[in-house]
Amino acid sequence: MKDISIVIPLYNEEESLPELGAWIDRVVSSMGKSYEVIYVDDGSNDSSWKVIESLVAKNPDVVHAIKLRGNQGKSQALRAGFAATRGDVVFTMDADLQDSPDEIPEMYRMIKEDGYDLVSGWKKKRYDPLSKTIPTKLFNYVARRASGLKLHDFNCGLKAYRHEVVKSIDIYGEMHRYVPMLAQQVGFSRIGEKVVHHRARKYGHTKFGLERFINGMLDMISIVVINRFGRRPMHIFGAIGFLMFLIGFFSAAYIGLHKLYLLYMGEPTILVTDNPWFYIMLTMMILGVQFFVAGFIGEMLVKSRHHTPEVHIDRKLNINQ
Ligand code: UDP
Ligand code: MG
Repeated sequence: MKDISIVIPLYNEEESLPELGAWIDRVVSSMGKSYEVIYVDDGSNDSSWKVIESLVAKNPDVVHAIKLRGNQGKSQALRAGFAATRGDVVFTMDADLQDSPDEIPEMYRMIKEDGYDLVSGWKKKRYDPLSKTIPTKLFNYVARRASGLKLHDFNCGLKAYRHEVVKSIDIYGEMHRYVPMLAQQVGFSRIGEKVVHHRARKYGHTKFGLERFINGMLDMISIVVINRFGRRPMHIFGAIGFLMFLIGFFSAAYIGLHKLYLLYMGEPTILVTDNPWFYIMLTMMILGVQFFVAGFIGEMLVKSRHHTPEVHIDRKLNINQ
C-alpha cells in the first residue's frame, strides 16, 4: 500500500510526458509520502510508450505503466489504471500538462483531513477555446440538475479519490465525464471540489472533437435512466406501454360507439378505416404492447443476471484487498 497513486491516461502525448513526470516527482516527493505513478497508454501511435519505458526504467519503484491494445478511450484507460492502484488516495490527471501537479498536496489534505470521498478539480479560469467552454457550461448545468451534486466542473481531468471509490465505480464508455455521478450512485456522498489552476495545452492537440457533446449527452441520459430504472425496467416501460394501450383502447371504443350511434340514428356512416381515430388506435395499441414486452424482457434480464448483491463498503481497516 502506498499513500498516493497517480493515474495518468494518455493518448499521443510524447512531448508532455517527461516534463509531467519530473513535475509530479518534484511536488510529491516534497510531501514526504510514498507514491506511485501509473501511466495508462491508450494505444498511442507516437513514441509515448518509448518515453514511458524510459521513465519506468529510471524509477521502477515509483513509475508503473499499462498499455491498452489500441485506442479504447479515456474511460477504459482510467478503468485499467484504477484496477492497478495500490494507493490510499488516488489521483487522476491528464497527461497534457493542462492540469497542475501543484494541486496534489491540498487535494490530498482534503481527502485525508476534511473527510471527502472525492475531490473534483474546478477549472474556474479555463484556458481552452470558446467552442469548448460554452457547451461545457451547459453540460455542467444539466449534470448538476440531473445529479443534485453541487459541482461546477464534472469533467475535470484532475481529481482525487479515496481508494475505496476507485475500486467501487464501474467506468466504461465515455463515463469519465461523470465520475462524480458514478461515485454518488454507489453511495459516496462526500463529494467536494477545489478550484484548480489550469493551463493552455502546451504540446499536441485535443483528442476530443465535436462528437464529445453528443456522446456526452447520451451517456448522461444512460446514467440517469439506468440509475432510476435499471433495477425495475417494468416501472418505466410498463407505465408508458399501459398509457399508450389505454389511448388505443379508448380510441377503439370511440370508433365503435360512434359508428353504432350513427347507424342507430339512421345517418350515413363512413368506413372505420376512413376514421382518423382508427390509425391512432392501431399505432397506440401496437406501441403499447411493444413497450410492455420491452419491460418484461428488461425484468427477465434483471432477474436472470447472476446476482451477487452489491455491497458498498465504505472503508477498510487492516484488510488486504
Ligand atoms: N486521452 C486518452 N484517450 C483518448 C483521448 C484522450 O487517454 O482516447 C487522454 C489525453 O491524452 C489526455 C486526457 O485524456 O491526457 C484528456 O484529453 P484532452 O486533453 O485531449 O482533452 P481536453 O483537455 O481537450 O478536454
Ligand atoms: Mg487537455
